[in-house]
Amino acid sequence: MSRLVVVTGAASGIGAAVRAMLEEGGDRVLGVDLRDAEVVADLGTAAGRAAAVAGVLEQSGGVVDGLVTCAGLSVPSVALPSVNFFGTTELVDGLRPALAGASAPRVVLIGSISGTQPVDDALVDALLAGDEPAARGLAEAALSDGRPQQLYPSSKAALARWARRTAVAPGWADAGIAVNVVAPGVVLTAMSAALIADPQMKAVMDAAVPMPLHGYAQPEDIARAVGVLLSPSLTHVTGQVLYVDGGAETTLRGPSRF
Ligand code: NAD
Repeated sequence: MSRLVVVTGAASGIGAAVRAMLEEGGDRVLGVDLRDAEVVADLGTAAGRAAAVAGVLEQSGGVVDGLVTCAGLSVPSVALPSVNFFGTTELVDGLRPALAGASAPRVVLIGSISGTQPVDDALVDALLAGDEPAARGLAEAALSDGRPQQLYPSSKAALARWARRTAVAPGWADAGIAVNVVAPGVVLTAMSAALIADPQMKAVMDAAVPMPLHGYAQPEDIARAVGVLLSPSLTHVTGQVLYVDGGAETTLRGPSRF
């Protein structure tokens, strides 16, 4: 049966691969992105997120079978927490009624192995409290103090924690909506290209994200994992973070973490 799946960040990288996989399988995709999408919207602003939800509701007819949130930024900026965290959570929340109307609704958030790295606890707390002005203020302070490196891990750690909290909150699992996270290691997309091209940055990244199983991933490798979590036949999995990282998380955190 053909499903309607909303994919944010569908214009590039992992989102584009998810779109291609779903369309090849006969599903209809509504992409949300800054360009080249059915719903063109800026997920970095509250107005853009509201417009995205309204655009999806209009074009879907009010029932959404799946939502995959791939839109994201990795270069540190004040906009990063807005796009990576609120650009996902507000869309997921806004589409909850449309998901609840589907027969086997599935939500898959794209997190990151970076969510296991050291974070700015105050920023994670502000994100989980839903306080976007505070989060942007903390990002601005981190940038001006020369501490940009924890912005991305903090946004992804908060996203994973939000997903686990949401998955079993009233209105989600009890409404049949599964919410899971795919956390990739290094994926060969526009986002990682500059890092890989710089030998010094590549060495830092390879040490931070060891991938003994098959090395760097292609976006299609991540899309296939998303496809598994979107499947209506996967009935009892929610609140989980699936590391699609060539063994990086297991290497870094060891066997006692499961
Ligand atoms: P990408 O840069 O190829 O794609 C990101 C997409 O997000 C683009 O189409 C972009 O236009 C869109 N986007 C950015 N800001 C937006 C905004 N304000 N509003 C709407 N859309 C916006 O990157 P990718 O590698 O495909 O990344 C996809 C997701 O995977 C991101 O969340 C990223 O953090 C995560 N991720 C990537 C890697 C990697 O190595 N590439 C690793 C782990 C996690």
